[in-house]
Amino acid sequence: MKRIAVLGSTGSIGTQSLDVIRMHSDSMCAVAIACGSRIDLAEKQAREFGVKLVAVYDEAAAFVLKIKLADTDIRVVSGMDGLIEMCRMPEADIVVTAIVGMIGIRPTIAAIEAGKDIALANKETCVTAGHIIIPLAREKGVQILPVDSEHSAIFQALQGRADSKIRRILLTASGGPFRGRKKEELMYVTAKEALAHPTWSMGPKITIDSATMVNKGLEVIEAKWLFDVPVDKIEVVIQPQSIIHSAVEYEDGSVIAQMGPSDMRIAIQYALTYPTHLPSPATPLDFKMLKGLEFDVPDNETFPGLPMAVNAVRTGGSMPTAFNAANEWANAIFRQGEISFMQIFDIIAENMARHKVIPSPTVDEIFAVQDEIDAYCMEKYGNVL
Ligand code: NDP
Ligand code: MG
Repeated sequence: MKRIAVLGSTGSIGTQSLDVIRMHSDSMCAVAIACGSRIDLAEKQAREFGVKLVAVYDEAAAFVLKIKLADTDIRVVSGMDGLIEMCRMPEADIVVTAIVGMIGIRPTIAAIEAGKDIALANKETCVTAGHIIIPLAREKGVQILPVDSEHSAIFQALQGRADSKIRRILLTASGGPFRGRKKEELMYVTAKEALAHPTWSMGPKITIDSATMVNKGLEVIEAKWLFDVPVDKIEVVIQPQSIIHSAVEYEDGSVIAQMGPSDMRIAIQYALTYPTHLPSPATPLDFKMLKGLEFDVPDNETFPGLPMAVNAVRTGGSMPTAFNAANEWANAIFRQGEISFMQIFDIIAENMARHKVIPSPTVDEIFAVQDEIDAYCMEKYGNVL
């Protein structure tokens, strides 16, 4: 029985992780869940899966949940200490990191230090603290199994070929809801339009990141850390149907791609059942219904999220943190209707330009960079959060 803790159980990846666990209840179970504040759903999940521990970041919400669960043996903990306690709990073998944002750094490190394998969805942690978590995972002998669909595809394409030389990683992207549009047409797009993703149903933050192509930039950095490949060997390819989830090209020209429906439960499940492919709740791909597979190059001029991320990782040190922190801020206030779509890029570029790079930042330094950027943005763009 694989015992799983789901950090961010109430979100898009979290609920789909529980779908997978529900389907395979003979071989896996959820022992703990954590969320930010959505306790109604957390309560339902806790009761259904009979977890031992629920961590709720928001103290007041945790207090209410404790009362609601008073008729059970389920323990409720709160705050960052609660998330860390959940990630370290002895009853768990693996932690699905389905939390959104850099707030996942400390819990992820705690889980690795406690020897838990990681099913990694929380890419912001990998992007900002990859230089800490990847060596730590190696030292502790824990596996980091990718949940992100592209990285799951790359991981699958790498299986059994350890001695082969990679020429390129082909990281696919749908191009998001605004693919094909030009800058002038993006001036007045709303958060609602940006939230209508053509092929994937995801949480709000990543959906906006997909529209800006920042998500693809984060994924390039994530791939660099997960697969230990230089960014020059990672090429982003637009594949609008989201059927090819990514590919690896070897030195002989062979391209091994992973294909499938746009259903995250396949990637989540593979991270939980690796190296075995088991039946999935996802509807299988019907090739007869496919009109075709298109490919294109990214429009880096209109959507500079990707080239900015590549610059950030080439600069190295704390620059990916500056890129990510500025984006987390801009993404959040764009969703609140406070800035325009194109201003997201301005805010990231401005913060990267003024950032003083720290060569190999500690966790405290990473958060100090985030605090500094938040304070600067708050001052400049108003107290809108
Ligand atoms: P959602 O916004 O749907 O869910 C986020 C989850 O994190 C929720 O459970 C939320 O709890 C929880 N959370 C937020 N803040 C805190 C906090 N301070 N403490 C504890 N829990 C918190 O996000 P997604 O599921 O879309 O994304 C999660 C991660 O996975 C992101 O890093 C994303 O980039 C990555 N990912 C997502 C994909 C997808 O298809 N959705 C695909 C590939 C990667 P609450 O509900 O209480 O707010
Ligand atoms: Mg992805």
